[in-house]
Amino acid sequence: MKGWHWAVVAGLYMLALPVFLVRWLLGLPRMINTIDTIQRGWVDCRHCGTRNVLNRLSECPSCGRREYGSVLACNCGARFFAIQCDGCGVTISI
Ligand SMILES: [Zn+2]
Ligand SMILES: [Zn+2]
Repeated sequence: MKGWHWAVVAGLYMLALPVFLVRWLLGLPRMINTIDTIQRGWVDCRHCGTRNVLNRLSECPSCGRREYGSVLACNCGARFFAIQCDGCGVTISI
């Protein structure tokens, strides 16, 4: 009898599916929040209240190029999920 192990693998996937689904659903609000923040274009610091604009002249820590655009993404392909507050210097996760 060949191919029985595929049934076992398929069975395991079926068992794991709800776990993946729950993990995805739990991560969803955070993902929506991140997209909201990026579309809004600014993020308020929770500590000092400074409004940090996300679209401005910035230097990419990865390739070093300075250009106008989102501080969260660079043309070199680098992506960032945290910025430094202009007011107090604390790291803000997006
Ligand atoms: Zn870059
Ligand atoms: Zn701050």
